[in-house]
Amino acid sequence: MTTIPFDNSYVRLPDRFFVRRAPTPVAAPRLIRLNHALAANLGIGPDWLAGPAGVGMLAGNSVPEGADPIATAYAGHQFGNFVPQLGDGRAVLLGEVVDRNGQRRDIQLKGAGPTPFSRRGDGRAALGSVLREYLVSEAMAALGIPTTRALAAVATGELVVRETRLPGAVLARVAASHIRVGTFQYFAARGDAEAVRALADHALVRHYPEASSAEHPYRALLDGVVARQAELVAGWLLVGFVHGVMNTDNMSVAGETIDYGPCAFLDAYDPRTSFSSIDAHGRYAYGQQPGIALWNLTRLAEALLPLLADDEAAAVETAEALLAGFGPRFEKAYHDGLAHKLGLSADRDGAVALADDLLARMAENRADFTLTFRRLCDAAERPEADAGVRDLFVDPTEYDAWAVRWRKLLDEEGRTPVATASAMRTINPAFIPRNHHVEAMIAAAVEQGDFGPFEELLAVLSRPYDDQPDHARYAEAPEGGGADYRTFCGT
Ligand code: AMP
Ligand code: MG
Repeated sequence: MTTIPFDNSYVRLPDRFFVRRAPTPVAAPRLIRLNHALAANLGIGPDWLAGPAGVGMLAGNSVPEGADPIATAYAGHQFGNFVPQLGDGRAVLLGEVVDRNGQRRDIQLKGAGPTPFSRRGDGRAALGSVLREYLVSEAMAALGIPTTRALAAVATGELVVRETRLPGAVLARVAASHIRVGTFQYFAARGDAEAVRALADHALVRHYPEASSAEHPYRALLDGVVARQAELVAGWLLVGFVHGVMNTDNMSVAGETIDYGPCAFLDAYDPRTSFSSIDAHGRYAYGQQPGIALWNLTRLAEALLPLLADDEAAAVETAEALLAGFGPRFEKAYHDGLAHKLGLSADRDGAVALADDLLARMAENRADFTLTFRRLCDAAERPEADAGVRDLFVDPTEYDAWAVRWRKLLDEEGRTPVATASAMRTINPAFIPRNHHVEAMIAAAVEQGDFGPFEELLAVLSRPYDDQPDHARYAEAPEGGGADYRTFCGT
């Protein structure tokens, strides 16, 4: 018998923040994958978790001692339209634990059955979407991008009805919290100022403790969320990530990437890329993401207005000043990152213009985003390796002209080629979750019950910055640049 050291702070908030609801048991739980390292970090014995009692908990068939399962209330702007009530329609928060690093973390079961927020949904998740979230969130973590984590995936032994009948699964997800921009909006839209304040106080203690002691804690809270989101979105762009559904209910106040639905990575570089079938107008396209993040933060600022100053005009002015911090922070993180991707220091004169020029040439020439930067590492080491980069451009001379200017700036850095290349390899991944491999992995699991490709891809993506010659095929770009790839918000 293991006891998990739950310490549930969210249930200590007022009753209207959540509904108590145990997960709905499933027919035949079977563990697909357990994240041993994460379990150990949470102070939960991996062997216990992989055994019958642990799997029962992960499937939602039993509620462990100390858990206090709830579905949380939130609202959100979906594709620009405000929906006053969303909430956890298929997720149950079991509780919180303080991990080995002293960080408080939610343990949530996604696909755990209906809740009062399910509307017409069945509260369940399809195996394919669970494996996608497991794989992509773990890949993001290995890439060094703040994200929710996957603790386990469990098959339910039940079918879910979507366009077809599909095997069901439950994802155990770990997050700094599940407080969303939409959680603040939920209370603000109801004119519940007391709840907005209680939520802000909770978020301050939990995610921005340094802001709690600021002269104006709520201003410092908004400032902190703005800063984390600016850096997060810069991190996405620097690895070619497209979230796909940046609704305000899918934006975490803690600054983690959350809700992996129709997300996908760029193959060929084109900032207009949006993969999601439900995003016909490209609202959430790759290059739109900074602007959308700021739009969402503006909704957060609106919800926090009464806390920012005593009279409304002063509050609006304060909010505008804090939101104005997004642009410079994003630009700095993004531009510094681009310079580093090219092996240049952030303050090297001309680095940003050089990077912008490369991106423009890549877009015109449909060059693969990940391969271009990874092969530039080799080119920085030995000019003969230029051949590998040139090949990625429809018109290779477009690269040649650019490379002359790049080498000039690299020379000014004065580092050895080997040192430059090895630094570049720590930030330009060789491996990302390539869409065609993710789809093949899902098809093998769903259609054949074969989890081999899932395990293999997961292992490769746990070391994205290492060359892994035995797995070179996972680094390759798809035929045709992958532009016609579509994701579905497959719930
Ligand atoms: P998403 O687009 O996945 O962020 O979800 C938006 C809203 O729909 C949230 O309130 C979810 O809880 C809810 N939802 C999504 N899928 C389901 C489902 N299968 N059953 C019940 N609610 C769902
Ligand atoms: Mg969501």
